Amino acid sequence: MGDEKAQMTCQQVHGPLVIGAGPSGLAVAACLSNNGIPSLLLERSDCIASLWQQRTYDRLKLHLPKQFCELPFMGFPENFPKYPTKHQFISYMESYAEHFGIKPKFKQSVESAEFDNFCGLWRVRTQDCEYVSKWVIVATGENAEPLIPEIQGIKEFHGPVLHTSVYKSGSEFKNQKVLVVGCGNSGMEVSLDLCRNNAIPHMVVRNSVHVLPREILGASTFGIAMALNKWLPLRLVDKFLLLMANFSFGNTDRFGLRRPKTGPLELKNVTGKTPVLDVGAFSLIKSGKIKVMDGVKEITRNGAKFVDGQEREFDSIILATGYKSNVPSWLKGCDFFTKEGMPKTPFPNGWKGEKGLYTVGFTRRGLLGTGCDAIKIAKDISDQWRAINNCEDVQRVLIRNLELR
Ligand SMILES: Cc1cc2nc3c(=O)[nH]c(=O)nc-3n(C[C@H](O)[C@H](O)[C@H](O)COP(=O)(O)OP(=O)(O)OC[C@H]3O[C@@H](n4cnc5c(N)ncnc54)[C@H](O)[C@@H]3O)c2cc1C
Repeated sequence: MGDEKAQMTCQQVHGPLVIGAGPSGLAVAACLSNNGIPSLLLERSDCIASLWQQRTYDRLKLHLPKQFCELPFMGFPENFPKYPTKHQFISYMESYAEHFGIKPKFKQSVESAEFDNFCGLWRVRTQDCEYVSKWVIVATGENAEPLIPEIQGIKEFHGPVLHTSVYKSGSEFKNQKVLVVGCGNSGMEVSLDLCRNNAIPHMVVRNSVHVLPREILGASTFGIAMALNKWLPLRLVDKFLLLMANFSFGNTDRFGLRRPKTGPLELKNVTGKTPVLDVGAFSLIKSGKIKVMDGVKEITRNGAKFVDGQEREFDSIILATGYKSNVPSWLKGCDFFTKEGMPKTPFPNGWKGEKGLYTVGFTRRGLLGTGCDAIKIAKDISDQWRAINNCEDVQRVLIRNLELR
């Protein structure tokens, strides 16, 4: 321990320190750079947008049309399709970083960040360096760590158990009976991918879920909801969405997909739970190719027992159980975040804490929310930056005048 400390270097950062080089970190660095402010990005992995490059499945496409996923000041190339593939999204991120000259420092995993009241600066530690800065921008994401639930008996299971963050393609599961735990966008898409690769997915639907068509008469459901929400109350927009969902799918309860009592947008606002935008899984559920199962009671050596009394054998288990923020594990002495690692103040006011602390990408509104945060943060810091620089200019003139005397 003593030796590690001795080897630790210390770096004073000229400008804000951004933690995380995903889309949010890049967006805020670009907005700062547009305001003439340098920044330093720290990233634990060895590439930008590591969630997209290292922890997503091959067939992933953006869930929302590209115009809702653009970062500030640079759109997607014109020739990209409406729903870019993950590879296209990554190439967009790479061009974005290059365009704004963003060069993160890789393999820097932040282990602690704390405001030092004595010197009025943030001290941020990685495994081998301490960074000191006036501003810290948290951009580590809502999806920093896989959420792995405790399921009774899972350690006894004979086959592979993996989280969707390491799932790449259904081709590895050909002819297998696969238990997919979770029915959000990832659970549905992984089940679809398994089907397309001749596996037999059984998807666990423990709670109620809103499934919406991705498009209504050729227009994005998300886009329609956003447009309507400008003019109509949320509950009315929810009523419209449910009408359209009913028109597209009929009553989803018949297939084991019970709808929550609260509408999809209201539920998203209150709990953060995203409705599923269907990209083809529903028709496979209807035809019985994706089997819907009740909650898991326990995992056995060869399969699972379900709460409705059924018991089945499986070859593999995939946990589509989501992700969580990791902020509480490293941000110290600060009560801006909940114990789940989300800002306590809800959107649109969760981007700014105290003493130079900012957050970007914690709005539960995907990349659209990221853009809003990044622009506000850059404006706020740029006002302070100018004030400081003016102060320093005045100081320099005073010192020169004194020297001239
Ligand atoms: C499968 C999937 C599909 C999605 N599709 C869409 C979509 O179509 N549209 C949309 O708007 N949103 C989508 N999202 C949400 C998506 O996560 C975000 O929109 C986007 O990736 C958020 O960017 P971010 O930079 O905030 O977080 P992330 O992309 O998670 O980036 C955070 C970065 O911080 C780094 N980091 C974490 N902890 C530390 C640490 N302690 N020290 C240093 N670095 C650290 C991580 O390695 C990572 O590179 C999707 C999410 C998933 C999982």
